[in-house]
Amino acid sequence: MKVMKFGGTSVGKPERMRQVSQLITKDTEPTIVVLSALSGTTNSLVEIGNSIASGDRDAARQQIEKLEAHYQAFIRDLVKSEKALAKAKAIVAEHFEFLTIILRISFSEALNKDILAQGELLSTKLFSVFLEENGIDHVLLPALEFMSIDSHDEPQVNSIKTRLGHLLQQHRDKTLFITQGYICRNARGEVDNLKRGGSDYSASLIAAAINASVCEIWTDIDGMHNNDPRVVKKTVPIEQLSFEEAAELAYFGAKILHPASIWPAQFYKVPVKLLNTMQPEAKGTLITEEAGSVGVKAIAAKDGIIAINIRSSRMLLAYGFLRKIFEVFEKYRTPIDMITTSEVAVSVTIDTAADLKAIVKELEPFGNVEVEDNHSIVSIVGNEIALTQDVLAKLFEALIPVPVRMVSYGGSRHNVSLLIPSSHKTQTLQLLNKGLFGLE
Ligand code: ADP
Ligand code: ASP
Ligand code: MG
Repeated sequence: MKVMKFGGTSVGKPERMRQVSQLITKDTEPTIVVLSALSGTTNSLVEIGNSIASGDRDAARQQIEKLEAHYQAFIRDLVKSEKALAKAKAIVAEHFEFLTIILRISFSEALNKDILAQGELLSTKLFSVFLEENGIDHVLLPALEFMSIDSHDEPQVNSIKTRLGHLLQQHRDKTLFITQGYICRNARGEVDNLKRGGSDYSASLIAAAINASVCEIWTDIDGMHNNDPRVVKKTVPIEQLSFEEAAELAYFGAKILHPASIWPAQFYKVPVKLLNTMQPEAKGTLITEEAGSVGVKAIAAKDGIIAINIRSSRMLLAYGFLRKIFEVFEKYRTPIDMITTSEVAVSVTIDTAADLKAIVKELEPFGNVEVEDNHSIVSIVGNEIALTQDVLAKLFEALIPVPVRMVSYGGSRHNVSLLIPSSHKTQTLQLLNKGLFGLE
């Protein structure tokens, strides 16, 4: 059995859905198809939620009407028969009625999650009507019945496996399953989600749960590129990556993959393929346990980073100092991405300001605390970077004009990370593209 995930652009137009239907019926291997919301929908739902949260119900109503008009036009183009159109219309009506009802209810975070879930529910149900009209036998599997996160917002593969296994058992004679990415239930049983871009994570979790032969992530580009194509003009696809390399690139900002989407596939040893829906014959990127060739493979950048510097003469020759500092971050469940230390100071980075005030307050007794926001981590990822001749020389030569704030090297054999002011990100990615890959 395999998993095929299609992102927003891959289902964002009626003709793309048609193309997806061809791709998923190409071979006979039983398949679970994971769909995102149509491109733009989740952004619109976020805006609707924000309008309701700020009490601007008129704006929310207008945003809902605009989105509904988009879906009305979409379905008229998607299906041909009156019968299928009536079904599709009923689905659109049901979900937009739900959004309109929400306008009258007082806002809560749980309600907001319900709003955000509408995109994947709509895309999968409409795709199912389209498949039915075209005589493609399939089963719609409700993700809310098997995809879940625990009280720490972590998905547990074993419980997903049990529930999904039960559902699949009920349809033993079927070979094509369609389900929603991104959405899940939380520990309180409410509708929740796996954070923005989470359909990749859904796909990898499902692939792990069913021990899939492959987890295919179909998107709008021909695989993982060596640099961020949104920032740098000339980038090239990478044919092969190890799980470690892919995980680091995803975690450190390569938007093509959700930051957590590699670990389930890695842990359960399911190969991941990144493929282009618009160019299915392109090789794409294969991600496996194999380390592949030595050297730098790609660069990624993660924004919204906050650097915290704790300076204290008490750190000199003291032990236990770092433990005390780490305990503060542990208490607030805030992961540290980078760390550098000197005899009298330690700098760490975090990517959320959620508990920043409380963290700083608790760090103050240990020394002088300084906070700098608006930074980016630029990660240079590859295999055995440390063994690659000249890489550090080339790296620092390329970066002469950039005010690098922190460097992390040696923690992993696959990564060198730099902390820079976000205002220098574009320049840094361009300089590294030239300096490390000879691409301009
Ligand atoms: P989907 O909707 O299919 O999930 P995303 O927009 O989430 O697609 O991810 C694909 C996009 O990721 C590409 O269009 C590209 O702009 C962006 N991207 C950022 N970094 C990279 C990279 N290193 N390689 C490929 N794509 C990247
Ligand atoms: N629709 C969700 C989002 O836009 C999930 C996804 O596309 O992966 O974030
Ligand atoms: Mg995505």
